[in-house]
Amino acid sequence: MKFTNLTRQTEIGANSYYLEMGRHRLLLDCGMHPKNTGEDALPNFKAIGDREVEAILMSHAHQDHIGMLPLAMRRFPGAQIFMTEATAEVGSVLLHNSVNVMTRQREELGEMSYPLFTHREIDRASKRWRRCPPRQRISIAGERAAEREKDTLTFEFFDAGHVLGSTGALLRAEGQTVFYSGDVNFDDQTIMQAAVFPEEKIDVLILECTRGDHAIRR
Ligand SMILES: [Zn+2]
Repeated sequence: MKFTNLTRQTEIGANSYYLEMGRHRLLLDCGMHPKNTGEDALPNFKAIGDREVEAILMSHAHQDHIGMLPLAMRRFPGAQIFMTEATAEVGSVLLHNSVNVMTRQREELGEMSYPLFTHREIDRASKRWRRCPPRQRISIAGERAAEREKDTLTFEFFDAGHVLGSTGALLRAEGQTVFYSGDVNFDDQTIMQAAVFPEEKIDVLILECTRGDHAIRR
């Protein structure tokens, strides 16, 4: 197994992670830094050279997790893109808004590479997104996977309780399990229920830790 952090900063940033499990390669999230501009706002794709990925999994529709998905789709044209229905709906609105923001920044900041993608590109890209229900084991090729299939990489989305449609992803391949939490909330909120994560044994946990050093107040 190989895990490469493509996020440039150790703070909230352009979250993106490259993961190799057996012969499978995938990307977890592809965000845009909410404050930086230009190259500094992008995940560091150089860290994985010319490696291809089979699939891109989106945990939720926040700018710092989905904001550069159109660029990732350009770089990995053969990759399947997976997310929940709600993430797809909110995500496409967010990306269209991002084009407007970048167009404004081109004038205000003189960032001549902006906008990095267009409204038309988002419309085309979003048609390729595979909308997946939570709690269903799906193969990286996009098919419902039988529980006994051992060699294929499968994923299963679990409700992360963070925003509408947010998920953590349980990945299984070659007898190993990896759980990627995405952003997570373990408390009930007014309009969101707390995360419901798997309780089975996990070999590798990739965990959001934005407030990891804060004591929980109950
Ligand atoms: Zn978030």
